[in-house]
Amino acid sequence: MLFKRIGIDLGTANVLVYERGKGVVVNEPSVVALAVRKNTIVHVGNDARSMLGRTPDGISIIRPMREGVIADYTITEAMLRHFIQKVCGRWRLSAPEVVICIPAGATSVEKRAVRDAAESAGARKPAHLIPEPLAAALGANIPVGSPRGNMVVDIGGGRCEAAVISMFGLVVSHSVRVAGDRLDDTIAAYIRRRHNLSIGDRMAEEVKLEVGAAMPLDQELRCQVRGRDLVTGLPKTITVTSTEISQAIADPLTQILATVRNVLERTPPELASDIIDQGIVLTGGGALLRRLDELIAQETGVPCYPAPDPLRCVAVGAGIALDYLEDIKRNLPADDETLVGAY
Ligand code: ADP
Ligand code: MG
Repeated sequence: MLFKRIGIDLGTANVLVYERGKGVVVNEPSVVALAVRKNTIVHVGNDARSMLGRTPDGISIIRPMREGVIADYTITEAMLRHFIQKVCGRWRLSAPEVVICIPAGATSVEKRAVRDAAESAGARKPAHLIPEPLAAALGANIPVGSPRGNMVVDIGGGRCEAAVISMFGLVVSHSVRVAGDRLDDTIAAYIRRRHNLSIGDRMAEEVKLEVGAAMPLDQELRCQVRGRDLVTGLPKTITVTSTEISQAIADPLTQILATVRNVLERTPPELASDIIDQGIVLTGGGALLRRLDELIAQETGVPCYPAPDPLRCVAVGAGIALDYLEDIKRNLPADDETLVGAY
């Protein structure tokens, strides 16, 4: 075949490209550095992210995706073009066949924007759109083609999506615009309030990665936090513990739990009993938060565990979906003309 077949996970935090036959070939943050005066892109992905919070006036760092959907269309398209060309080259004839994921809770306008961006960024027409929870489940190796109920909860940067899937279709789903970014913001607000220290987004995320936990840990962790003292205005370092962070993020976690519970409550009884047997699978970066699986299991009474390699599930699943497009199309709701290739 002259062209490649790829799956794209266009996430709020990270963009991943999965190439059939090769695996994940791009895995970079969804960040773009823009030269403000000339309005040109200077860096995309890793290079742009390393500049976050440390740029001179003339450069602005943009995250074009917000809460799982496109916030800045032009920049998203340019970012996609950069990654697609990196994998497939610039040659028009080699335009790849693309499966790209959209949040199950996105509006039809938001879905269309993703398709348009992918196609103008170099995808072969039509670009296929599939719901993110379905891709997450495929990538987590869950037998989604079977008539059994399977439940996934994907927690990314901007959005948490919970869904029950059976026979390649979403039976019940619900999403909330609360996920990793909100945890970071909540941590920064807490440290500001409790310790009078102002910290940047990256520092807040680092604290979450180093000591973040959904419930207090048996072995308490500590980490150093650097920021600017709000009283003196000078740089300062303090220490925070996993116990205080777990308390600080209780509120956004409650919203995530409510989303999971909402889906369980609306799941038909037969499928619910399958889910009790097989458990809830967590995907996305948020699945790595310490003890989150235990918190969900405790609060819902349903076993829960993180997928192996949760950050890659959606991209791998999008790649796998290339082989199941017909099955997926068959199970879409009749009124959904925006998905999988249909115009
Ligand atoms: P998206 O699909 O929105 O791009 P990802 O699934 O790539 O998001 O996940 C990114 C989010 O996961 C970020 O908010 C990041 O801080 C968070 N994350 C990554 N690793 C961990 C970890 N070990 N513990 C908690 N959160 C994590
Ligand atoms: Mg994601």
